[in-house]
Amino acid sequence: MNPFEQISLHIKRAAERCDLTDAEVDTILKPQNPLAKTISVTTESGKVDYPAYRIQFNNARGPYKGGIRFHPQADQREVTALAAAMAIKCAVVDIPFGGAKGGVSIDPKKLTEKELEAIARAYVSAFAADLGPDIDIPAPDVYTTPQIMSWMLDEYEKITGKSQPGFITGKPVSLFGSKGRDIATALGAVFVFLEYCKVNNLDIKETTTAIHGFGNAGGVVAKLLHERGCKIIAVSDSSGTIYKESGLDPIPLLQLKAEGKSVIDLKDNEAKVLLSGAVLELECDLLVPAALDNVITDKNVEKVKAKIILELANNPTTPEAEKFLINNGVDVLPDVLVNAGGVIVSYFEWVQNREQYYWEESLVFERLERLICVAFRDVHQQKANHNSYREAAYEIGVKRIAKAMRLRGRFNS
Ligand code: NAD
Repeated sequence: MNPFEQISLHIKRAAERCDLTDAEVDTILKPQNPLAKTISVTTESGKVDYPAYRIQFNNARGPYKGGIRFHPQADQREVTALAAAMAIKCAVVDIPFGGAKGGVSIDPKKLTEKELEAIARAYVSAFAADLGPDIDIPAPDVYTTPQIMSWMLDEYEKITGKSQPGFITGKPVSLFGSKGRDIATALGAVFVFLEYCKVNNLDIKETTTAIHGFGNAGGVVAKLLHERGCKIIAVSDSSGTIYKESGLDPIPLLQLKAEGKSVIDLKDNEAKVLLSGAVLELECDLLVPAALDNVITDKNVEKVKAKIILELANNPTTPEAEKFLINNGVDVLPDVLVNAGGVIVSYFEWVQNREQYYWEESLVFERLERLICVAFRDVHQQKANHNSYREAAYEIGVKRIAKAMRLRGRFNS
């Protein structure tokens, strides 16, 4: 199944439980405004064309919202699946946005900073008529950074001739991004896990965790879980896994990553080095996929020993693998809830930009905790009617989108 087929399956199953008609489901599954353009940039080797996308999936609940990724595999199908997931995610955590996603099919590692800036500006210029703080608000995603958001903001303001900081989120704090945005995704996931512990009478200090991926999301989640007393027994990056039964301290590992090294470069006689994928198969309470999509599949799921999966990455578990896990009593806490902290704080950034009044970090975190814990409790309550947290989350998301569509009369035509 390709990523859009996977998400369509989740939406269709949820729609059946919400008693939507086939025609209503088809309306929800059809991206409202899929945009594809070619952007041209002059590089050292001459003029180069790149395919670029902005898929505006649904705006029944508010302006379109979603990141822009720069990646060689960013194609229309992948970007559409991610746009649909954004619509569901915003609805699950009940923030007033629809869903969108953008992408440019490039390998940013092969580009100079000047070329990246030219591509960022060309992207905004190509899609400017369809973007804006009340229309569609972009943000960072894979290989796009606060610096790239700054160039994009500048280009948009040049085109429109006015200051519009709410055009884009994920900006540096010195350009009026939100305090706390850098750790929001990981912190949101930790709040979800703490709430899960509460309803299941689990003591976080007695849990062991393995983390697949040690980048922006995985590295920070390791630190935050460790600070709360959870034992981190293993983490991995693309070079391998570092495993220590008595527990790892994330700080020296973060230091290694900051120096451009791998987690397996840790000097610790008690720690063992394993293959990257081995982290997924270790004996532990909590497994956090925080790297790539489709890493828990029918090929390795029988070897997964964790009791809880906290999906920090987007789409890390295939539907077949999830079915196997659930049948074996494993709780899979889904991406559309777990990694929503990033878009929640993006929402706060947009609110602050519109108010032109800026919040302390402690207020950002307090409001993040409140929103994501309410969302967890809604999903947990809904799960009483299901086997699965994902089904419960999708049912809530689809129901909220369908309600907005119905109120607007969009199911009538
Ligand atoms: P990142 O590029 O900072 O980190 C990815 C990590 O995965 C790196 O440590 C890399 O070495 C590791 N990795 C790559 N291939 C691997 C492999 N084969 N085995 C093990 N590790 C491997 O990316 P990120 O921002 O941390 O994003 C990770 C995931 O989280 C993605 O699915 C992303 O969509 C999702 N996510 C991130 C955010 C965010 O705010 N950063 C928000 C929502 C969702």
